[in-house]
Amino acid sequence: MDRSEKAMEVDRRLDEAFGSRLPRERRELTDELIHAVLSQNTSRKNYNLAYRRLMERFPGIEEIAKAPLSEIEEAIRPGGLSRQKSKTIKEILLALKEERGDYSLDFLRESSVTEARRFLTALPGVGPKTASIVLMFGIGRQVLPVDTHVLRTAKRIGLIDRKTTAEQAEAELEDLVPPAKRPRMHLNMVHLGREVCSARNPRHEICPVNMLCDYIFRPGS
Ligand code: SF4
Repeated sequence: MDRSEKAMEVDRRLDEAFGSRLPRERRELTDELIHAVLSQNTSRKNYNLAYRRLMERFPGIEEIAKAPLSEIEEAIRPGGLSRQKSKTIKEILLALKEERGDYSLDFLRESSVTEARRFLTALPGVGPKTASIVLMFGIGRQVLPVDTHVLRTAKRIGLIDRKTTAEQAEAELEDLVPPAKRPRMHLNMVHLGREVCSARNPRHEICPVNMLCDYIFRPGS
């Protein structure tokens, strides 16, 4: 079985086990970008709390852009790395205002994935994963963001090599998975990583893709 066939079988089995998951449009695009920045290097519980506190503290994006850094930092403190993230949020909003005249990212709805990725990754503190999360959740684009769970499970299963970086993995997995299946593959692999294939204690015995997984035959990868 080559990697494309394996990817399709993993998709089929995860879909069967976890149900067909599809990303829902959750919030305005700029809010989605701020949420994605807050999600970097912390747990879901922490970043959701940080986001909620930020939105409760300020009535809108404009107020966040104009707020003193210390107030943004205070609001997002539970999310960790608050100093760095508050600076990133402020810099992103200032860059948007300077370049576009306002804080909206709605123009990306008319852009190609390549153009939108280029624009987003040119913003301060926005890497490929953050850009893809915004494109997938914000405007329903058929991309496959690679977070820590997707990277770990894809390596263990053997869809990518052990030394592949997250940035390389996104391109490689998008080559293996047809566009229509990418968002659900992302959601299912995140769920697999969170609930079954944790970093320290993978539960192979209940895993829906254990019969396809290389890790069982070469643990430590
Ligand atoms: S078989 Fe084990 S290592 Fe492989 S994906 Fe499942 S839980 Fe992870």
